[in-house]
Amino acid sequence: MGTFLEIKLAVDGHDNASRALKDIEDAFILGKDMEAALSLYDKNSELSRFNQHEYGVFKASNIFMELLEISLFVHSVTEGAFDPSIKPVVERWGFYDRGLDAPPSDEELLLLLASVGMDKLEIDEMNGTVLKHANIQLDFGGIGKGFAVDKMSGLLIDRGHDRFIVNLGGDIYVASLYDETPWRIGIKDPKGKKTPYAVINTRNKGVATSASYYNFQQKGNIIYSHIICPFTGSPVDHRSSVTIIADSSALADGLSTAFAVLGPGRAKDVGRKLPDIYGLIILTNEKGYEEYSINDIESLIY
Ligand code: AMP
Ligand code: MG
Repeated sequence: MGTFLEIKLAVDGHDNASRALKDIEDAFILGKDMEAALSLYDKNSELSRFNQHEYGVFKASNIFMELLEISLFVHSVTEGAFDPSIKPVVERWGFYDRGLDAPPSDEELLLLLASVGMDKLEIDEMNGTVLKHANIQLDFGGIGKGFAVDKMSGLLIDRGHDRFIVNLGGDIYVASLYDETPWRIGIKDPKGKKTPYAVINTRNKGVATSASYYNFQQKGNIIYSHIICPFTGSPVDHRSSVTIIADSSALADGLSTAFAVLGPGRAKDVGRKLPDIYGLIILTNEKGYEEYSINDIESLIY
């Protein structure tokens, strides 16, 4: 997934520590398996096979179905701002190691957008199949890391661990099932200052940050973000950092990407439909910072 994985868990005693190490190794193996299934770069991954399958019924694994279902939920609750079928457009803007020679014209974008849209697939939960009505292609870059974090966290909980952190490149789950002491998570200053912009106190939650300027293509002085608006096909043009805290890391991951597309005003509206999430949006420009809160994030910052 092009990033690091870090797992820390609290144990007492030598025996518990060696058992915990084994559990951490198993969580890493699970993470690797998920990477293998969801990779866009590996031509034999399940995702690549799905993308190469042009039309008709695709038999999917349970993991693939589950991720697709969560993606459809995030897609609908964000009114389409989260859209993993954006893949051909992301590719055209030079991502996936392709590089950007020249930005696409409006006509070219319109043509690419014709193949985008989650209505071009239908899932059959009972049979574990996906019906492709068109040659729709998916990119789980906006939600896959969070989903993998949830699966690894689930493994650790099943093995009896109650206080741990799983951090996959900044997509985090913090567990503290019985101990009510919260984990403290620093939000990186979007202007690059050393001290965190804010510190959030929480437990048993997923936390994810999407920043429009983490990953970009540059042409001359113009920077093209890796987060693309599915309605226009263009990269988001504001410098924003969106942190979401939710019951699962997958939800936090998908929503943070979508909210980066929607911008603070519409993100706040969607946030009202989801009372169990919290969010902090920081816009930056030459003048400084503009801060927006989703639901009552202030209650977690102390
Ligand atoms: P994140 O870092 O979680 O915000 O995810 C960004 C990645 O998600 C990009 O690198 C793309 O692979 C993918 N992506 C870009 N725009 C969207 C979008 N509107 N909906 C879903 N995924 C997207
Ligand atoms: Mg995301």
